[in-house]
Amino acid sequence: MKVVFPNSCVLCGRTISAFSLLCEECEAKLFRGPIPLVEKTKWCEVYFYGRYESLLRDVILAYKNGGHWRLRKILARAIFETMSRYSTSFDVLTWVPSSFKALEERGFDTMGMIAKVVSKNIHTKCVSLIESAAPSTKRGLTRQQRRESVRGMFVLKAKPRGTVALIDDVYTTGATINECSKLLLQAGAEKVIAYCIARA
Ligand SMILES: [Zn+2]
Repeated sequence: MKVVFPNSCVLCGRTISAFSLLCEECEAKLFRGPIPLVEKTKWCEVYFYGRYESLLRDVILAYKNGGHWRLRKILARAIFETMSRYSTSFDVLTWVPSSFKALEERGFDTMGMIAKVVSKNIHTKCVSLIESAAPSTKRGLTRQQRRESVRGMFVLKAKPRGTVALIDDVYTTGATINECSKLLLQAGAEKVIAYCIARA
């Protein structure tokens, strides 16, 4: 007896085999290779897989908000392909952590799960170096500090060494990536290279 598990492409709904995540067509559209864009900020250099639009945007949202946590493999591939394109080397891989609120809502650290998959592929250890400052630590801040902390306040969990690869999903103003990179450099990292799935 042949057992058939119903499964459909997260992006377009087409019927696909049981263990696939996306249909071939969506996968081909999604993986056209990293865009030739590098941003150099005061704290780091940033590489991107694509623009935050169409299928790439859909797959990020389905992963983060749609409960499709298996898509971490697809997003890890985007990060991995970006790293391969630029063949930059680093000593440790880390990620921009989810905020406490997001962690409570989703129950998982979105970039942490992706970092683990990437780490396996590239045989470089991933270490949780940064965490979101607990909401309780915001008490006693001035109004100005509290406003600044809205977009995410981070603290270091461990001392970084060498060149650190920092991964994140969507790069908009770069405030988060720069904040995390600055923390890493001030704590002893030699260099920070950031890889983001999408550039808004
Ligand atoms: Zn599809």
